[in-house]
Amino acid sequence: MSPLRLEIDLGLLHHNASTLVDRLGRRGIAITGVSKATLGLPEIVQTWVAAGVGSIGESRIESIEALARLGLAVPLLLIRSPLLSQVDRVVAHAAISCNSEVKVLKALAAAAMRQGLRHGVLLMVELGDLREGLLVEELEEVVQLVLGLPSLELKGIGTNLGCQHGVAPDQANMAVLTGLANTLERRFQVQLPWCSGGNSANLPWLASGADLGRINHLRLGEALLLGREPLGRTPIPGMHTDAITLVAEVIEAKFKPVEPWGHRQHTSFSKQLSDPELGQLPCAELPLAHSPPAHRALLALGEQDVDPAGLTPAAGISILGASSDHLLVGCEGAPLQVGDEQRFQLSYSALLRAMTSPFVDRSFVGGPDPDGPAEW
Ligand SMILES: *Cc1c(COP(=O)(O)O)cnc(C)c1O
Repeated sequence: MSPLRLEIDLGLLHHNASTLVDRLGRRGIAITGVSKATLGLPEIVQTWVAAGVGSIGESRIESIEALARLGLAVPLLLIRSPLLSQVDRVVAHAAISCNSEVKVLKALAAAAMRQGLRHGVLLMVELGDLREGLLVEELEEVVQLVLGLPSLELKGIGTNLGCQHGVAPDQANMAVLTGLANTLERRFQVQLPWCSGGNSANLPWLASGADLGRINHLRLGEALLLGREPLGRTPIPGMHTDAITLVAEVIEAKFKPVEPWGHRQHTSFSKQLSDPELGQLPCAELPLAHSPPAHRALLALGEQDVDPAGLTPAAGISILGASSDHLLVGCEGAPLQVGDEQRFQLSYSALLRAMTSPFVDRSFVGGPDPDGPAEW
């Protein structure tokens, strides 16, 4: 096993999943577990299914196909609009896909027809975050089109907020979705099984004791994996925020001057060439006399493995910077030695990058949840 690894506690992940399945289930909300930040890691997805998660969502067809090979007992939902060039693969392996383009819907219908299948469609509606979704004005016409295509099955409507512009789900935009579901059902005399309110960003709205209206489905990734809601990055009560941690090894530990010396210019990871701070960086010819040495350590990980800004170190450790393969930390409060392992909690973006780095191994600990789901 590589010393640089994600340590994945399946017991804690099971606890997180069964807690939300239970909590939301009591309010009539079903959950799709979104595994895209883990690239559909089988151990995690199987843990979610064992904890009662009713369907699995993935954004890429490659991950959907890999999950299909696991033969899970739950349907697979493609949460990103199918690529026009991949509709045959989509209908073959995903039971349902999220959609917002007429051209894609027609191609899905033709592909499903060719394969003798019926493909489920969740129509995404734009409610202000300005990523994917049909405009409200387009919705009725597109519903009519889907209802007229026998190889498609309208699973419902949904929206996605929070991911592009940080627009928070609230009573106003959720009521719009509810109103649309009611109007469509009356107008077309159909039943929409899903009114899919959104993602982990919907949880604060839900916890506020909101009137749920017709919302009966959420697609959750970050909350299940990291026990947090994304808008305020706050931990969700009763959930574990350390089910997945990053472990790395110390490769240098010394007392070094606090201030750099010499003439300073850009580093490979400076943000902008126009960075106004640059011209004003302090430069010293020699180690500054007034800069007392401090305890510093280098860990064998860097930008190539993780988003360093998304790491939370243990108490007493502070992250001072990172380059491709080095993470520089101050360790006044917790002296480190060469060969020591350090553990970090991860943000969503740090997790995503760590999962996609070929240098970061994965190790699994823990079994089924010993505590059972947590109460509110
Ligand atoms: C990523 C994604 C989700 C899950 O988002 P989280 O914030 O991780 O819960 C849900 N729906 C769609 C359409 C997504 O792209």
